[in-house]
Amino acid sequence: MSVFGKLDALPRVSLAHTPTPIEQLNNLGKALGGGHLYVKRDDCTGLAMGGNKARQLEYYFGEAVQQEADTILITGAVQSNFVRMAAAAAAKLDLACHIQLEERVSDAGANYHDSGNVLLDHILGATIHTYPDGEDEAGADANLQSIANELRLAGKRPYIIPLAMGHPPLGALGYIQAAIELKSQLKKSDFEIDQIFVASGSGSTHAGLLFGCRSLKWPIRITGVCVRRRREQQINRIEKRCHDISRLLDIENPVDSSDIEITDETFSPGYGKLNDQTLSAIKLCARREGLLLDPVYTGKAMAACLNHVRGTHKNQSTLFLHTGGTPGLFAYSPQLNPAN
Ligand SMILES: *Cc1c(COP(=O)(O)O)cnc(C)c1O
Repeated sequence: MSVFGKLDALPRVSLAHTPTPIEQLNNLGKALGGGHLYVKRDDCTGLAMGGNKARQLEYYFGEAVQQEADTILITGAVQSNFVRMAAAAAAKLDLACHIQLEERVSDAGANYHDSGNVLLDHILGATIHTYPDGEDEAGADANLQSIANELRLAGKRPYIIPLAMGHPPLGALGYIQAAIELKSQLKKSDFEIDQIFVASGSGSTHAGLLFGCRSLKWPIRITGVCVRRRREQQINRIEKRCHDISRLLDIENPVDSSDIEITDETFSPGYGKLNDQTLSAIKLCARREGLLLDPVYTGKAMAACLNHVRGTHKNQSTLFLHTGGTPGLFAYSPQLNPAN
């Protein structure tokens, strides 16, 4: 069976508005003096302010519904978009949702703990737990397990959406679907693209997209931009994720290690921490294109994408995959407000 037959055989619920539009960023392209720049608007997937996690959650919630779960559990950073959209999907599917927020960003500003995604988590009615050490992935997972055990003792049927490695990467399947979608959109369009830039965090989006493109025998260059950890670690992670996808679908892995392109040029000083390049990218896209990015993921990814476009030839085309995250802007208002 082909990768697409395998995908269709897996349980899935519909959560994302797709296909997401592709737009050309004309003003930016001109301002940079480089090639053409396009954006695929996965920030517009609809679910509670949208983002890449809507596509990923279609497979997790598909499995949860199949298992007749009544409660969803998920862990993430305080300003996690994944957690916010999981709370929204749970509400939509009439399930309870417990979320665990991990302290990962040490010198966060005044709004970090109660605005942006956290505000939305509250509005969406999720039960909120906290975990003090956001670098301790195994500990955060173990704590989530113990919350699940308590729920089980109380007669609930919990389903955990895992973030750490070592679990079937169901979320990545949403980005195999996105690769199919993108290829068919480009086939109908009057332009081509030479390279894609995308934020690379847990790696589900990056690995899924890469796996999907190579399964389609499409050799498009895909550059992942580090937002969570350094390049060397991220390369390993994407390699493992691709391997895990091939195991999950029981098909051969079409991704070669030379396909995995990663830059961490805009990552410092670390996860969830702004730098000057990211701040400039956020302002530039807002002021030249009316396009909002976020401080944690897409601002950093776009900063690296802009560096690339500046250096490319006039007839080169680059596509930026906008993965969402815009509620995060409000969590960083002290650092982003030009009046401060
Ligand atoms: C989660 C997230 C990412 C990273 O996606 P992964 O699949 O975890 O690599 C990028 N951008 C935004 C806005 C996100 O919320």
